[in-house]
Amino acid sequence: MSAILEDLRKGHAIPVVPNVFAMGVDGSLRLAGSECQKCQWRTFPRVKRCLRCHSGNIGDVLLIPQGIVDSFTVVRQGPLEWTGLVPYVLVRVLLEDGVQVVSHLRECLTEDIRIGMSVRGELAVLFEEEGRSVVGPVFVPA
Ligand SMILES: [Zn+2]
Repeated sequence: MSAILEDLRKGHAIPVVPNVFAMGVDGSLRLAGSECQKCQWRTFPRVKRCLRCHSGNIGDVLLIPQGIVDSFTVVRQGPLEWTGLVPYVLVRVLLEDGVQVVSHLRECLTEDIRIGMSVRGELAVLFEEEGRSVVGPVFVPA
């Protein structure tokens, strides 16, 4: 992951969405989410209004990307603008603090994916665009 961080610092790589992730003080990945100040509902990615109670009193929270796969699918045909490899696997992960996150699963054969398997997030190159790597959080088996 350090090569990706170095590329981000030098501008050779860009995040897939601005401010979607951050690095913890120990250099590990954190997901930038929201926490409702009224009902404490947490979401990823960030929102401006609570999806549960509709309050606009929202704070930022950095989520630790560790959890279990609770759903997945194999994508054999990406969207028209997709320049990465196909097929790829999309997983919905239930993080340890209860937030659901959808992203790619890497480093795992499709026949080895199981509901309930432990995964962790890491930063990865999603695709190349105009000579730069576009990076974002993905999951890998823990
Ligand atoms: Zn709320």
